[in-house]
Amino acid sequence: MNKIKEIQHPLRPAWVEIDLVQLQENFRLIFADKPKKLQILSVVKDQAYGHGAVAVAKCAIAAGVKYLAVVTLDEALELRQNGINTPILLFGERPEEQLQLCIARNLTCCVNNTKTAKALSQLALKQGKLVPVHVEIDTGMSRYGIRWDEALPVIEKMAEYKGIALEGIMSHFAMSDETDKTYALLQLQRFNRVLAEMGRKIIRVKWRHICNTGGFLDLPQAHLDIVRIGILPLGVYPSKVCRRISGLKTVMSVKVKIAAIRELKTGDCVGYGMHYKAKSGRRIAVIPIGYGDGFPRVRNAGVVLIRGLRAPVIGGNAMDAMMVDITHIPEAGLWDDVVVMGKQGTEDISAHEIAQLKNSVSYDILTGWRRRLPRVYLQKDQEK
Ligand SMILES: *Cc1c(COP(=O)(O)O)cnc(C)c1O
Repeated sequence: MNKIKEIQHPLRPAWVEIDLVQLQENFRLIFADKPKKLQILSVVKDQAYGHGAVAVAKCAIAAGVKYLAVVTLDEALELRQNGINTPILLFGERPEEQLQLCIARNLTCCVNNTKTAKALSQLALKQGKLVPVHVEIDTGMSRYGIRWDEALPVIEKMAEYKGIALEGIMSHFAMSDETDKTYALLQLQRFNRVLAEMGRKIIRVKWRHICNTGGFLDLPQAHLDIVRIGILPLGVYPSKVCRRISGLKTVMSVKVKIAAIRELKTGDCVGYGMHYKAKSGRRIAVIPIGYGDGFPRVRNAGVVLIRGLRAPVIGGNAMDAMMVDITHIPEAGLWDDVVVMGKQGTEDISAHEIAQLKNSVSYDILTGWRRRLPRVYLQKDQEK
C-alpha cells in the first residue's frame, strides 16, 4: 500500500511511527467481528495510549464508533478544539469547578455520587439545558462508582434531578482478559442485578456498558449496548490468553538510527556503572534512545532489531542512548534503521516483550513513549 510520511522539519533520528492505514484496517476488522447491534465506544485517553488522540478519534469516527471516552477535561477539550463533535464520555470523577465547562462543551460526565449529579443538574437548569450523564456502578473494583448493593436508591434519587438525563449506566471489570473469568462473571451478575432493579422501577437508559477490550473479546454475554475499547484497535491484546481477531496488527512502532559504531577490545567496559565488560573483541552500535524516551531502564537486558536480526542491549542504558551488540551483524552500518518496538523482516518486538523488562504491561509501554519522540503518521497517499 502506498504510504507517505508527514514530516514538517528534520526529525531527530528516533521516533514513534503510527500506521493509520493499519489502524483503519483494525477498526474494520473489529466492526466485522462484533455482533451487528453492538455499538463501539473508542477510548482515546492518554493520547490514545500514546498514538495521538485526535488522529485515532478521527479514524474511529470514520469507522463508525458512536462514542469517545477520555479521562481528563484537557483531553476532551483537545478533541472538541479539533472539530470532533461525537459524544465524549469523561471517565472518573470531576471536581465541581470543571462541571460548567463540561456542560458548555457537551461532554458527558460519569457520575458516582448524588453530590456531583445534583451540582450538574443545577448548572444545567440555569442554562436551560438537559445534560446527559452515565452512572457508574462499582461491582468489585473499588475504584469509581456506587456500590452495586447500595445503588438503586442513589439512582432513584439521581433520576429526580431535572437538569440531568440518565443516558447511561456502566461498570468496569477488574479482570476480564485472563482465562479464569470467575470474578468477571461475579461482577457481571452484580451489574445485572442493578439493571434488573432499575427495570422494576422503570428507569431506562440508552447505554448499558461494562466491557473493556477483554470483556468484548471473551465475554459476549456482557456486551450489553456498547463496549468501551481502547487497546484493541491499536492492534495490541490486553493479555496472552484472550481471543484473537485474525488480521489485527500493531499500529505503533518505535524506530531509531544507529548513531555510532565502535569496536570493543577484550576488557572494555560499556555504559554507566560498568555493568558490561567485553570478554572478547565485539562490534557494538550506539543508538540515540534511552530511558528518557520511555525505554525501561535496564542492565544487559532487552533487544532491538537491526537488519532483521535481534541485537541485545549491553551494559546499563542511559537517558538518551544505549549500546547494542552487533558482532553477529557485520553488514550493519552507521544510520541504519533500528526497530526498538515493532516488526523488521520476520522478527517482531512487542510492547508485551518490552513490558517484561520492567515487570509491567503493554499499556504501560504504549503510553510510556515520551513526547520527546516525534510521532510520524503513515497514511494513504490520496487521503488527507
Ligand atoms: C481504559 C478504560 C477502558 C479501555 O480498556 P482497554 O482494555 O484498553 O480496552 C474501558 N473502560 C474504562 C473505564 C477505562 O478506564
